[in-house]
Amino acid sequence: MFDYSGFFADRMDSLRKTGQYRTFVEIERLAGRFPRALHHRPSGPREVTVWCSNDHLGMGQHPAVLAAMRATLDASGAAAGGSRNISGTTPHHVALEREMADLHGKERALSFITGYAANDAALYVLGRTLPDCAFFSDRLNHASMILAMRASGAERHVFAHNDPADLDRRLSTVRRGRPKVVAFESVYSMDGDMAPMADLCAVAERHDALVYVDEAHTVGMYGPQGAGLAAQLGVADGVTVLMGTFAKGFGTAGGYLAGPDPVIDAVRSLAPAFIFTLSMPPALAAGALASVRHLRAGDTERELLHERAGLLKSLLRRSGIPLVSDESHIVPVLVGDVDKCRRLAGILLDRHALYAQPINFPSVARGSERLRINPSPVHRPEDVHHFADVLDRTWDELGLPRTPAPAYAE
Ligand code: PMP
Repeated sequence: MFDYSGFFADRMDSLRKTGQYRTFVEIERLAGRFPRALHHRPSGPREVTVWCSNDHLGMGQHPAVLAAMRATLDASGAAAGGSRNISGTTPHHVALEREMADLHGKERALSFITGYAANDAALYVLGRTLPDCAFFSDRLNHASMILAMRASGAERHVFAHNDPADLDRRLSTVRRGRPKVVAFESVYSMDGDMAPMADLCAVAERHDALVYVDEAHTVGMYGPQGAGLAAQLGVADGVTVLMGTFAKGFGTAGGYLAGPDPVIDAVRSLAPAFIFTLSMPPALAAGALASVRHLRAGDTERELLHERAGLLKSLLRRSGIPLVSDESHIVPVLVGDVDKCRRLAGILLDRHALYAQPINFPSVARGSERLRINPSPVHRPEDVHHFADVLDRTWDELGLPRTPAPAYAE
């Protein structure tokens, strides 16, 4: 007889040995006081400051968002009770989708229960439906994109990360007239670096390829009215389909696509990840809409985000703490050792009540383990200084290497 439980227990043991076994840190956000949260430990709860949340603008506790969610919960209940096609389409979904199409200047938008599902649905349908489709995928694309492209069965070419010349070369190997989809992210979640969007879009256009961009880490946070990095760089028209999430800058949950009406309609009609799952709960759709509208109406949160991230990056640069990149609001502190990364995070949390989750393989390559720090408008400047001070002291305690100052000249 096959010992199923024993087999998986052994597999988990081997993950423990290589430092890849993931444990949960139990965190409860304190209402209206984020980034403060309760860390629930066996010895009891303790207040900590969260430094690794994707609620980058603090919109998850914005009064307008909470009011919209509460009102919709009271009016409509906990969830829509079905998929979009079977009792799950409400005026909240329709309004949210109109808003997202308008924000991005696209013909149509479609909402999903998660951003993961949005990527899965879109890339699966493109690869499955376009005749003899070839994907061109950035090497560091998110797992949701990679798995959807693979599942579609279409040919996949992987181009070097953020490298338009390599993309150009690879596109040249595929005959003209054949449908091609170029897929990349605008800001990369684990490295915090930015895609050279203008160049990538220009190369794609020369080869008559459809451009698919995951703007999960930029919508709400970059561009006029929070429309994302393509909008900021003035290349939104070069992007055929934009994917976004409500779970990061917008502070709620759910995902969406925006693009040409027939393409979005095809995803709506053909994607299993859209058809065979629950619609966004209406209260979430209402909360997301309130968040999007708030962030369209003013730049306050965006400006504060970039101010806080800029402050943290300059403090770390000054003390020679190596960063994977320093281009965006994501501040990835390079530790480069799975064990030391875990110990560093442990000291920050246990001794200093600062929570930053260590990031290991397979989220990042082995040897590039890191702490991914996400400052936000609700981290006060004194919080940022305190975090940088503690990191600086702990860095020495663990004997971690510093970067010579010129590498991060300001
Ligand atoms: N794309 C990227 C680049 C992401 O980082 C994430 C979330 N980690 C997603 C998609 C999925 O978004 P969601 O959390 O809304 O499912």
